[in-house]
Amino acid sequence: MALTLENTLNWLHGFDQVIEAKKAYLSQLDTPIGDGDHGNNLARGAAAIEAALEKNKPTDLTAALKTIAMALVSKVGGASGALYGTAFLEMAKTSQKTQALPDLLAAGLAGIQKRGSATTGEKTMVDVWAPVVTAAQAGELDQAVVDQAVQATKEMQATKGRASYVGEKSVGHLDPGAVSSGYLFTELLKTGVD
Ligand code: ADP
Ligand code: MG
Ligand code: MG
Repeated sequence: MALTLENTLNWLHGFDQVIEAKKAYLSQLDTPIGDGDHGNNLARGAAAIEAALEKNKPTDLTAALKTIAMALVSKVGGASGALYGTAFLEMAKTSQKTQALPDLLAAGLAGIQKRGSATTGEKTMVDVWAPVVTAAQAGELDQAVVDQAVQATKEMQATKGRASYVGEKSVGHLDPGAVSSGYLFTELLKTGVD
């Protein structure tokens, strides 16, 4: 289980395509429990990642992860831009020491939690990242882990982020950031990283 420059570029190209294709759906998920912009926010980031990777042509994993992080931070806006951006920035830092996937994903999760101070059960992207990290560390990351983590956010009540403003009314809706994180890890699995 290791990231390389090549599989990371494939991973993000896949993610960027899915985000563009699911833009309307992600913003729709963000409508009843947020401000309806999650898909549009991420689609700006996806386009920015594609443009930055084309322009800068990173020649190692650390540079690629850093370029991705910068595109996310500068173009996504909203809570998710800072959170995804921090995740990739922490992965970039850790990649100077190791390319092992569980360690890189754990660093990404730690960055998200440091930045957003959410723990599991609060109906955020952490509810997908945390079980994915745990499964990766156990060598048991598969699509079922990702799908179950995403679906589990439906019955949670949000206590962080915009969705927390609607209180109990957040129950019964998937968390948009959990769904987009699900796409991120689905695309990672598709690249065959192991
Ligand atoms: P905004 O809420 O600023 O409009 P987005 O709609 O792009 O930003 O992203 C919303 C998503 O961000 C949520 O669905 C949730 O997954 C995630 N999120 C929000 N706040 C936090 C937090 N404190 N920690 C982790 N994830 C969070
Ligand atoms: Mg939003
Ligand atoms: Mg917003």
